[in-house]
Amino acid sequence: MKKLLTAAALSAVLLTALTSCSAKTSSSQPTASERDVFAMDTFMTMKAYGDGAESALEAAEERIRELEAELSVTAQDSDIAHINRANGAEVEVSRDTALLVDAGGKYWVETDDALDIRVYPVLREWGFTTGEYHVPDEATIAELLRKVHSGDIAVSETSVQIPAEAEIDLGALAKGYTGDEIMAIFRDNGVTSALISLGGNVQALGSKPDGSDWRVGIKDPFSPDENMCVVSISDRAVVTSGNYERYFTGDDGKVYWHIIDPNDGYPADNGLVSVTVIGESGLRCDALSTALFVMGTDKAQNYLCEHTDVDAVLVTDDGRVLYTDGLSDSLEMKSGMPAEVIVRD
Ligand code: ADP
Ligand code: MG
Repeated sequence: MKKLLTAAALSAVLLTALTSCSAKTSSSQPTASERDVFAMDTFMTMKAYGDGAESALEAAEERIRELEAELSVTAQDSDIAHINRANGAEVEVSRDTALLVDAGGKYWVETDDALDIRVYPVLREWGFTTGEYHVPDEATIAELLRKVHSGDIAVSETSVQIPAEAEIDLGALAKGYTGDEIMAIFRDNGVTSALISLGGNVQALGSKPDGSDWRVGIKDPFSPDENMCVVSISDRAVVTSGNYERYFTGDDGKVYWHIIDPNDGYPADNGLVSVTVIGESGLRCDALSTALFVMGTDKAQNYLCEHTDVDAVLVTDDGRVLYTDGLSDSLEMKSGMPAEVIVRD
């Protein structure tokens, strides 16, 4: 068993509307096969082109269901439920689960504690996984943070072991990984052009059938029914974490959202209201969208300056839009909307 997390103090995308399971033809356009799936607590749409598209979509749906059964934190019989109930014992798990727990440990280190898959006890107390929303008192949060920081996670290729008190949740990573897996299935089935949206995680295989880029809208967090910009992509994932996605208003009138700062156990409120990460790997974009949101405006910009393999669009709570220079040729802001460029080199 490889020790991953060592210290004791281990401290939206609007997608161009896709319709349901039907094949569309027109004289000039190749056939699109489409499928909608509700899984992982979210609405998913997939659109693929090519001869193998129908069987690719069938296999993709099966894979989504398989991953959901393994990774769900609320299902009774998932790998995650087994790990969380194991009372400190080592648990045999699927390769997917082991890979994602391993990735969680790596991103915990890489993001300087911003992403922590052990934050689940706090997240549940706030009601974000049960729907029973409420603001916990400070003593309860302090007690639950002790569990979050209770110790190491160990992982091998097929097993996971966490401290007896700890509980984990892969909600920040699972959809991103699922996107990568779907892209692999599409490729294996001969699909060369596809676009999927897994509840706001958009991912493209290749370009549009006519060779032009896919155009993906990014929501305005202050007005989530509208796009604030459109980004042109091929072979990329576009993943957004926003404070408007899952939230409730407390008795105190304040709004609380589902991304938790593992340092204090409260919804991360470090200057950002939306983070979109654009890159080749869905898993990496998903991990980083959550982590940069937790880091906040300054740390997120520093991180992006040091990690130029991804691009990002950040929106601050006072309405500034910042995007990395890699997007200069591919991002179009809504007319009249100002934005600042994060220059790297
Ligand atoms: P969404 O799942 O809504 O697209 P994210 O990818 O940002 O949004 O993931 C948020 C989910 O990640 C939460 O619902 C929760 O399961 C989990 N989570 C929240 N805060 C953290 C954190 N600091 N570290 C790891 N996971 C987190
Ligand atoms: Mg995420």
